[in-house]
This record gives sequence, C-alpha cells and structure tokens, in this order.
Amino acid sequence: MVVTQGNITTTCKLLIDGNWVDSKATEFGEVNNPSTGELIAKVPMCKPDDVDRAVQAAQKAFLEWREVPVVERARIMFRFKSLLDARYEDIARCVVREHGKTLAEAKASVMRGIEVVEFACGVPSMIMGESMENIARNVDVETVRHPLGVCAGITPFNFPAMVPLWMYPVAITCGNTFVLKPSEKVPLTSMMIAELLKEAGLPDGVFNIVHGGKDCVNALLTHPLIKAISFVGSTAIAKHVYETGTKNGKRVQAAGGAKNHIIIMPDADMDQTVQALQASAFGCAGERCMAGSLAVPVGDAAEMLIPRLVESASKMRVGPTDNEENVDMGPLVSSEHLKKVTSLIDKGASEGADLVLDGRKLKVDSKGYFLGPTIFDKAKADMSIVREEIFGPVLSCVRVNDIEEAIALGNNCEFGNGAVIYTRSGHAAREFKHRFNAGMIGINVGVPAPMAWFPFTGWNASFFGDLHIQGKESVQFYTQQKMTMTRWFQSSNQNQFHDPIWKAKS
Ligand code: NAD
Repeated sequence: MVVTQGNITTTCKLLIDGNWVDSKATEFGEVNNPSTGELIAKVPMCKPDDVDRAVQAAQKAFLEWREVPVVERARIMFRFKSLLDARYEDIARCVVREHGKTLAEAKASVMRGIEVVEFACGVPSMIMGESMENIARNVDVETVRHPLGVCAGITPFNFPAMVPLWMYPVAITCGNTFVLKPSEKVPLTSMMIAELLKEAGLPDGVFNIVHGGKDCVNALLTHPLIKAISFVGSTAIAKHVYETGTKNGKRVQAAGGAKNHIIIMPDADMDQTVQALQASAFGCAGERCMAGSLAVPVGDAAEMLIPRLVESASKMRVGPTDNEENVDMGPLVSSEHLKKVTSLIDKGASEGADLVLDGRKLKVDSKGYFLGPTIFDKAKADMSIVREEIFGPVLSCVRVNDIEEAIALGNNCEFGNGAVIYTRSGHAAREFKHRFNAGMIGINVGVPAPMAWFPFTGWNASFFGDLHIQGKESVQFYTQQKMTMTRWFQSSNQNQFHDPIWKAKS
C-alpha cells in the first residue's frame, strides 16, 4: 500500500503506467486530519513535466485499451465493484481521516460512488450504435460509438471517493484512458482506490494519478493529447476550466458551486420538514453542492419552522469523527476553509440578518476545524449570505409572503443546482417543479442528488458544458459516434456465377 495509516506521514506518489513514482515537484501541500489538525500526508504540487509523463503513459495505454472488447472492459469493472464492496469500510475510514465526515456520511458517499461502478458495468448495452437498412435503395447506415482517447478528471475536496468515481469508471469502460487529479486537500482515498483497480486487472497506464493545484490543472487543460476534461469544483474554477479546456479543443463538462433554495409552504409536515432541513443544511457540515443552504418559508411557515429548527440544530453533537461515531457533524476540511466560512458569518451579521444560532460559539476540545450549526433569520435578497455559496454549516432564511415571491427569489439566483419544496399541495409542488430554474428538483426530499443512473443536471452557474456527469449523458460525453454508409451495388453483370463468393461456395 502506498497510503500509510496511523500517525505516519506519507508523501503522496503519482500513479504513472501502473507504478507509484515520485513527483519532480519541489513544492508540497499538506493534508491534515480535520478532526485533530494533525499532518497526515504531504502532497506534491505537480508541474507540466509530471503531467506530461502521466498523459504519455495514458496515451500509450489507450492504443491497446481501445481494442479490448467492451465486455472484457466491463468484466474488470465487475471485479472492481466486488473489491470496493470488500474494502468499503476501509475506504470510508480513509474519507473520515482526510476529510472529516462522520463515518455514516463517509459510508453513504462511498456507496454512491460504488453505484457508478455498477452503472459502468452496464456500459456494453449503452455503447451500442444504431443501424438502418435501405436508408436509400441498397444503402445501409450504422453508427458505432468510439472512445475519445485520454480523458482527465479534476475533483473537489468534499467527496474524496464519490466525485472521482463519478468519472473514471464510465470513461474507462467506454475505452478511454484516464488521468485523475484529486483535490490536493484529500488525495489519499483516490490512491487507496487505485490499488483496487490494479487488483481488478486494469492494465498499466489506463488509470493514472497526478497531484497538485492550479499549475497541474492548467497543464491538463492545455495538454494536446487530452481529449476531454471532467471537472467538479467551485463556479469560478469551473468557468476557467470550461473556457480554457474548450479553447484548447477539448470536450469539457464542468460542474460548479450552488446555493440551493428550500421552500417551505405553511401546509408542510413541519416535524418531518425540520428533520429533513436540518440534515440537508448541516449534513456533511454543509460541505455539499446539494446542501439546502437557503430556507424560504412562505407566510406562517416561518413561525412554525424556525424556532423548532433552531432548537433541534442546537442539540446536534459536533466533534471529532476519526475515532468517534456518536457525532452528528464533523469539522470543516481545513483551517483556511473554517476561516472563510467564519468570515462569511461575520459578514452576514454585519449586513443585518438575525443570527439566531451562532456556530462560532462552539467549543470543541481539539485542534480540529470545528464550527457549530449556524442559522440566520430575516435575511434579505441582496445580502451576501443569500447570494453567495458559503459551503459550511450555515443556513440563511428569507421570509416571503407567497410562492410567487419564493419562485422569483430562486429564479434570480446565479446558481441552478438543486431546489426543494416542502408541501402537501400538489398544485404548489407542480408550480414549483415546472417554474423553478434549477436542474435538480426535490419535492419533500431534502437533497435531490440523483443516483448513478441519472445525470447530475446542474443549470446556470452550477454547470458549464452540454453533457452532464453521470447517467447516459456520461456515456455520450466519453464517446464519439462514427457513422458508416454502405451501398450494395447491383452487379452490372447479372450472371451470379461471376460472383467470387458464389464461386467459392459452389
Ligand atoms: P475548488 O474549485 O477550489 O477546487 C476544485 C479543483 O480545482 C481542485 O482539484 C483544485 O486543485 C483545482 N483548483 C483550485 N484552484 C484552481 C485554479 N486557480 N486553477 C485551476 N485549478 C484550480 O473547489 P473545492 O473547494 O475543492 O470544492 C468545493 C466546491 O466544489 C464548491 O463550490 C462546491 O459547490 C463544488 N462542488 C460542486 C459539485 C457539483 O456537482 N456541482 C459537487 C461537489 C462540489
């Protein structure tokens, strides 16, 4: 194993052509256990030379991998899936250690990733082409799907196993080779999972890993051998990745940040809504692109909802997750991120919203990066805590008079990932579903994140590109179609005995 456990610090290696090798980088980042602040790994900040080594290995492997029949490629995914199942707990514990999620959250996220591998096992039936006989007289047409070549994945810190797994199982089973650049904050889980791909029988060079930040990403975006880029991260970087990647002739799918609105109608089941809203806003410490981060209670709903939500959230147990399973919420990923989220809370308070639950007051006896659940009431549409993504355990509430106002507020939002309504009214749900400008809609579902068989359909500033990650769109993204048109000439000499095939048979 490359990744060491316990208190030992490791320097992350690169995976190139099936071997774990040292980077040529001279700068290193730090990976800390967010529950304790302890340094657990150093990560090289790769430059273009390391990226080129990985891409060249992937290109060499592509020439053979694309010829491997798709059913054989899928069989490797079946074995990979069994190995992931067998190592599920270890992978989840690695996520806990480098990211800080609770064990239950980590396990659920690894399971979502495994589901993508299950989906990838079905690629043979999704990669089939179409055909039509006699599209013109004696002319037949068929389409087949070919892989693209070397694809790259660039991933964020918040789901160390799941988000990379959104990408490479499908890309590889479609016949591409892959270079992954995991988040420099959480590189260890992807390294652990890479060992399983090798054990599953994946040939060397089909899956490679490089590490780093801006320079490494820019080298991937401009490398001439890379054909497609899958990106997940913040909106500013997603836009940069989309613009630079497409300018350099690559296919790009780039998922960005979010501000997910949760509308609560007065007729909602308030007990269930309070529980679901709490889980949506504070689950994974709010570090989720599908977190419900803006509550929009309509009319009387505010008085029924907010005091109960504050009471319930204030009882959440926040603490270290690395050795403790009896916690509801873990730390934020890093001390820098904690500072950023705290400063956005300061800003919200200074802009005049009512801070009805202040997570800054939380005291945890640890050097980890903790912040308690935080709730703002009576926030206004122009405040930063309403407009900007905070990506922490912070819920802002904007009170509105009716559903029209709620939908208008949402449709003015820059982002368009998820949106949810809690109601018993079919009419309100239908209006909301039809008119709200977001790509993933929940009706009495707090986090409407689609499973592997459906696309992750962010809209507006939450997605740049055409074909989304996950589902059939991902198979389309990682393949290109080839059309062949064949004319069957009528022989000018009508004597069939001149036909060489006929002669051979007789
Ligand atoms: P981030 O944008 O800071 O980093 C994402 C990736 O980009 C990392 O691999 C990082 O190394 C790289 N990167 C960072 N700065 C760069 C730069 N200047 N140039 C080139 N590359 C750069 O995001 P993060 O903080 O790791 O993750 C949180 C963000 O990800 C949130 O905004 C969240 O909403 C978003 N996210 C979106 C989805 C989705 O499906 N829409 C899913 C998960 C997370």
